Amino acid sequence: MNLTLQRCLIHVDREAVARCPVCRNYFCRECVTEHEQKFLCSSCLQSMAAGVKPARRNAGRFMLVIRMTIGLAIAWLFFYVIGQLLMLIPPNVHDGSYLRNLGQ
Ligand SMILES: [Zn+2]
Ligand SMILES: [Zn+2]
Repeated sequence: MNLTLQRCLIHVDREAVARCPVCRNYFCRECVTEHEQKFLCSSCLQSMAAGVKPARRNAGRFMLVIRMTIGLAIAWLFFYVIGQLLMLIPPNVHDGSYLRNLGQ
């Protein structure tokens, strides 16, 4: 089938230059838009832009960021508590020995 014999789905008086790979209809140069090295018609491009797939990917990335933040917060809290405990132990030991020395 010769592509030059095809007419645009929207503009019947115009020759088709590209075929939309999604809806498999022929369109003129004005009706197609290049999207990821493919020529899509405007209706398919719109449905692709408002598609569920990219939204899901964004939601997954958003959840990953939240999970990483919670993980980092837990790790920070853990090391903060450990650090505070380690900082509290030496003065107590010193105070104890200091007081014992005074008592003698
Ligand atoms: Zn299409
Ligand atoms: Zn057209």
